[in-house]
Amino acid sequence: MSTETLEFQAEARQLLQLMVHSIYSNKDIFLRELISNASDALDKRRLAGLQDDRLRADDPHIRVEADKEARTLTVRDNGIGMSREDVVGLIGTIARSGTAETLRRLKENKESAELIGQFGVGFYSVFMVADRVTLLTRKAGEETGTRWESDGGGTYVIESVADAPEGTEVTVHLRPADEEDALHDYADEWKIREIVKRYSDFISFPIRLGDETLNSMKALWARPRSEVKDEEYHEFYRHITHDWSDPLEIVQMRAEGTFEYEALLFIPSRAPHDLFQRDGRHGIQLYVKRVFIMDDTRELLPPHLRFVKGVVDAADLSLNISREMLQQDRHIRMIRRRLAKKVLSTVKGLMRDDAEKYRAFWHEFGAAVKEGLLDGAEDHKAILDIASFTSTVGEEPTTLADYVTRMKDGQDTIYFMTGESRAQIENSPHLETFRAKGYEVLLLTDPVDEIWTESVREYEGHALRSVARGAVDLPADDEVSEERTGAYASLLTWLNETLDDVKDVRLTTRLTSSPACLVSDSEGLTPALERMYRAMGQ
Ligand code: ADP
Ligand code: MG
Repeated sequence: MSTETLEFQAEARQLLQLMVHSIYSNKDIFLRELISNASDALDKRRLAGLQDDRLRADDPHIRVEADKEARTLTVRDNGIGMSREDVVGLIGTIARSGTAETLRRLKENKESAELIGQFGVGFYSVFMVADRVTLLTRKAGEETGTRWESDGGGTYVIESVADAPEGTEVTVHLRPADEEDALHDYADEWKIREIVKRYSDFISFPIRLGDETLNSMKALWARPRSEVKDEEYHEFYRHITHDWSDPLEIVQMRAEGTFEYEALLFIPSRAPHDLFQRDGRHGIQLYVKRVFIMDDTRELLPPHLRFVKGVVDAADLSLNISREMLQQDRHIRMIRRRLAKKVLSTVKGLMRDDAEKYRAFWHEFGAAVKEGLLDGAEDHKAILDIASFTSTVGEEPTTLADYVTRMKDGQDTIYFMTGESRAQIENSPHLETFRAKGYEVLLLTDPVDEIWTESVREYEGHALRSVARGAVDLPADDEVSEERTGAYASLLTWLNETLDDVKDVRLTTRLTSSPACLVSDSEGLTPALERMYRAMGQ
């Protein structure tokens, strides 16, 4: 096929615009992105080589070259490479869902540049420093190579070439250096060494500059925590997640004995945009004895902890293990159980030792974690222990344990009410007696709260009860004397006959200022659940 000039897809074009005008101040990271892509490509080739001998690479590595005269920087790998269609589809397009939404948010708020990283549009960051980029690539096992070039404007040029080496070579034509930018001369070998050391030391393939290997290639999860600097963990986290911010917490684990594995997990500091999307990118990287096997391994953590990132390196799995096999694997199930417990106990530790971090955690991930209360999971207690909820007492969310310490004499039950927002619940007449009598009520506003409260009925021996349901057994509640009921009998009969949709009308002492309120049966649906079912057409 001949030379073609093609347009970038609209969203890709917008993102390039942002890059050319450099919304992110740390330009060094473009090199990290190129190296990270090279490393991914080498991982993919190693896997392909396991299935087909002919695709195996001799001496897998990454090479960086700088030419001060020509002002170019080249990153080359002998990884999987790309076909012509791959280049058009992968480099000319952003396929991820939610891109348009992120771009809109990015444009509104320049501070949130780290959003870009979440989409893994790393390659475009090269246009922060380049006025032209050339990519030469040949897919492992294919004959013809592809040359791609762009100045980051609306279009790129693509052509087939006969003599490309296997793998990918990206040549960055650096913008002219200005004086104030002497520190950022990316054609300078010192500068390159420094960036690679800082951002890419743990990359498991050698990164070479001349005869020198720049990185130590040590697997971070295999090193004792005391020997690794936080900064190194953070870089590794960025490498595997594309998140530009630091993780909230690091969780390290090692199991020895019949089934050995090492795990290095990260709790992000912010929820990903796709946390509640079924097709969101969730899961852990799986390695077997230092060899990368797959990304996004969902089987390694229960769904309610899907936001946790990291690596599990298992010693005794087959290198050829497939996703289907994972679902059946007994060892994987065991690892999942252990990791889940460890993550929950880590959060419990935060509660005790770092209240601020705990609050940040719960604010970002609480709604997801509570999904764990829905299944028959064994971790209910551990989840309730780390959960917190807004309540009628105080502004900050409270834990159930703290609620219990504030219970009134003779109170045995933990009261809650579900609804769409705190304000909506607080206006509810259901709360009146509770407020008047000084009983604390938890205000549950996440949609998932409607569901788990249906099945989780107690915490540490205290019943959990909705105040919107049936007669609530506050001492002396709802006991209206027969005499009084008798006096209102004809009104009640008339109301019962007139209000068709209402099952029963009765007198109550529950209200202090509202004239009437709607109550569900003890076993019936709460008003919010009723709304939900109705919305679903049931
Ligand atoms: P991400 O790495 O998050 O997928 P990038 O923008 O960095 O996003 O890269 C887009 C895609 O282009 C990659 O997923 C990969 O398929 C392809 N790609 C980029 N660089 C290389 C490379 N050196 N070798 C092979 N494929 C590459
Ligand atoms: Mg990338």
